[in-house]
Amino acid sequence: MANPTKILVLEVGFIAHEDIGYSRTFDFEIEHLVLGDDLELDNLSGEIDFSRTSEGVLAQADFSAFTETICGRCLEKAHQPLESKFSELFTLPNRADKNTELILPANGRIDFAPILRDYMVLEVPINSVCREDCQGLCPECGVNRNHESCDCVIETIDPRFSDLKSLLEDKK
Ligand SMILES: [Zn+2]
Ligand SMILES: [Zn+2]
Repeated sequence: MANPTKILVLEVGFIAHEDIGYSRTFDFEIEHLVLGDDLELDNLSGEIDFSRTSEGVLAQADFSAFTETICGRCLEKAHQPLESKFSELFTLPNRADKNTELILPANGRIDFAPILRDYMVLEVPINSVCREDCQGLCPECGVNRNHESCDCVIETIDPRFSDLKSLLEDKK
């Protein structure tokens, strides 16, 4: 098995020597990919289209994957789908100035892993759910209401009436 951290190291230096308008697409299907300490992707699929522009090499990426999160309602594992489309320009070294963010390395090799990580991590929602209609945990007894039912009666009292209710109960 190929070293997973190297899968996204791409040799694109040759594109710099092509005519403006030349493009080349790299396709990816990766079962499992660890991107740094905080992001693991499953079933990553996507493509990066590299095209030669007057400034350098433009990468247009389109990826989808799943990441494992914890459902905010039932606290079980959730497979969160992620999708990201983005583009980055790798400026030719002789075109770069102090405002240039990404410069095409002299060896023509781009490690796309940290770039993909930065975009994909933005797609991970703060509150994931395992599915849209997840019933969550019962606030009384804690059963997972997706799998079990319980007889708990959840009292939902408008806080404005709670004083009134205790007054009425005192009179009993
Ligand atoms: Zn859930
Ligand atoms: Zn319950």
